Amino acid sequence: MSKIKALGEFGLIHRLSSRLKFHAPDTILGIGDDCAVYPVTSGTNEVITTDALVEDVHFKLSATTPEALGRKALSVNLSDIAAMGATPQRAMVTIGVSKKISASFLDRLYGGFDSICNQFKVELVGGDTVSSPKCFFINVSVIGKINPKRVFTRHGARRGDLIFVTGTLGDSSLGMKLLHRKKRRASSKDYEFLIARHLNPTPRIQEASILARSKIDITAMIDISDGLVQDLYHICKASNVGARIQEDRLPQSAAFSRACNRNQIDPFPFLLNGGEDYELLFTLPPDGVRNLKRQFSKANVLITQIGEIALKPKKVFLEKSDGRSKFLPDSEGFNHF
Ligand SMILES: [Mg+2]
Repeated sequence: MSKIKALGEFGLIHRLSSRLKFHAPDTILGIGDDCAVYPVTSGTNEVITTDALVEDVHFKLSATTPEALGRKALSVNLSDIAAMGATPQRAMVTIGVSKKISASFLDRLYGGFDSICNQFKVELVGGDTVSSPKCFFINVSVIGKINPKRVFTRHGARRGDLIFVTGTLGDSSLGMKLLHRKKRRASSKDYEFLIARHLNPTPRIQEASILARSKIDITAMIDISDGLVQDLYHICKASNVGARIQEDRLPQSAAFSRACNRNQIDPFPFLLNGGEDYELLFTLPPDGVRNLKRQFSKANVLITQIGEIALKPKKVFLEKSDGRSKFLPDSEGFNHF
């Protein structure tokens, strides 16, 4: 375990993947992005992704409901589908059932799966049910379709590209903090909003579809699951570029700002490293911005330019509101080990 800890999540993925032999030479994109991409005979491509939620690692049974857990288990996978610019179609679900789980808990969990399947037109086509000695877990895999000409990867960002993010940042991680805090000062409406952003995230399928249908040259995209900075590093490392983001441009919800003020909480750790935002982070050349803004204002969806891709390879800097620049390390987001 201590060796795995030293490797970290991404070091472990690299170590394991470097041992694999390739048997399907037509695979377009393998390990290292939000989804794998491969061709299908109909002339389109498919994407596939998988993600697990484990009790006491990703959730506490006492702090969520079975319905919300079911919705989140599917939504975090749909978020990876969105990150490629793809449309989800089919899901497989495996559950590891521990002794304390009841049949009615599972009924309600599947009610949660069903509500996301209905909302995003996804069919649950199979899976597995196994027993688990201690912790309850859920693993979901989702397959989607994608236009072969509109596959958004992590590796195409270029110097001078602008960095955009959908929605607002930090809500989910602040919601989680408030959820586990005994004394909290936030109006019940703000509190409910922030908790819902944590327990019931919305995968940005609609936003991904706007980008995929447009002619905008999206050079790189990822969904923010580990935290803005860590996920921006994924783009920077894959694209061999650096980035500058501006402190005063990071989009905050009104509920987030009010809750930070009332509880005297520094917003920046949540905005930069909070994780589980499930917003889309993407880059494009400046000449695409007018079209981008037009498309998103038509759909009434918030997008914000937060910085730009810079020359300094694989380093991310924060421009503070006082004009100073601060190096942001990539190790402060979520790491499983
Ligand atoms: Mg992802």
